Amino acid sequence: MDGRTIGILGGGQLGRMIVEAAHRLNIKTVILDAPQSPAKQINALDDHVDGSFTDYESIAKLAEKVDIITVEIEHVDVDALVRIQAKFPKIEIYPLPETIKLIQDKYLQKQHLIQHGINVTDSKAVLENSAEELNKIGDEYGFPFMLKSRTLAYDGRGNFVVKDQSYIAKALEFLANRPLYAEKWCPFTKELAVMVVRSIEGEVFAYPTVETIHQNNICHLVYAPARITDTEAKKAELLAKNAVKSFPGCGIFGVEMFLLPNGELLINEIAPRPHNSGHYTIDACVTSQFEAHVRAVTGLPMPQGFTDFATTNTNAIMLNVLGDKQTANKELETCRRALETPHSSVYLYGKTTRPERKMGHINIVTSSMSDAENRLAYIMGNSSATIP
Ligand code: ATP
Ligand code: MG
Ligand code: MG
Repeated sequence: MDGRTIGILGGGQLGRMIVEAAHRLNIKTVILDAPQSPAKQINALDDHVDGSFTDYESIAKLAEKVDIITVEIEHVDVDALVRIQAKFPKIEIYPLPETIKLIQDKYLQKQHLIQHGINVTDSKAVLENSAEELNKIGDEYGFPFMLKSRTLAYDGRGNFVVKDQSYIAKALEFLANRPLYAEKWCPFTKELAVMVVRSIEGEVFAYPTVETIHQNNICHLVYAPARITDTEAKKAELLAKNAVKSFPGCGIFGVEMFLLPNGELLINEIAPRPHNSGHYTIDACVTSQFEAHVRAVTGLPMPQGFTDFATTNTNAIMLNVLGDKQTANKELETCRRALETPHSSVYLYGKTTRPERKMGHINIVTSSMSDAENRLAYIMGNSSATIP
């Protein structure tokens, strides 16, 4: 469908699923990451680059081989991308380096959204990593408050809940030497997410609003659609679209939000790439988030409705398969039960198991949420559940 080659910075599971979508459209992809990374395993080419997406020389090697560069992770070296753009003016880079730069610093990201009139959780920069500074923030925000690393955060690993004054020393130790900001505690009733894709022409499309349930800061389950009112869901889609419109450039974005008890929505954060909360789209929507991204960065058609649910009564649950905490590979038992369960599909990422590592996911797609929940109960090993 497109004779150009896409280079992907990062070869994890998101890169792997971009490769799958690109392959179906006969679009060639080349990966920059460690040897045998998940995206390289399913893409037998000699062209892949072994190296780091934070290293200019490695990105330059990739640039020699591709026409378009995209990312599966926002923690890339943006200055290197800017230099690549100058050296290889014909290469298109999406998301735009300026967008990645704004988003990869979660505090700058919030400031940017505020400037564009988008509601976000209250936050302030931590000017100095000291007990005195955090005490001042505690006085202003009250306890608990959330202390976050501005950069290189994922799966909550850059976050610390400062429950009261006595946690300040622990927080400073946990996040030592990282650039920090603080967020007011958000007493949300639900966490929601919306995938939004923007075409090269600048048109934005929202996927349906979904509900995400986290365990230990890691996405555990996604309910699609979210179990909220239609008005709330539409409001979330509009907010997500407006937020994405504030960042230039095309591609897919994952927008995480909090729903407050009074119905208000606040944006938590945005990812400039495919997102865990969008894995359900592979089986539940007309076009997956991965294909939508490929279409966006190559300028392929994106007709009205292409991000909709596949049918008017689609109900889906996505379960993340994490490495078992005690026994290596025990998580495969969950996958086996999913294989026994009609209306569910298993995706494994080709990684070596480690406790809590994202090893794969399972999509259950059916016509009612209660039916999906029954299937989920069996898959999760609930002893009273039988194969639905
Ligand atoms: P991701 O893997 O999504 O990139 P992350 O490391 O960037 O995660 P956040 O999304 O900032 O982390 O936070 C992780 C989780 O912590 C959120 O999904 C939410 O459950 C909780 N959380 C974050 N900020 C707040 C807040 N201000 N108040 C209450 N809970 C919060
Ligand atoms: Mg994040
Ligand atoms: Mg998050």
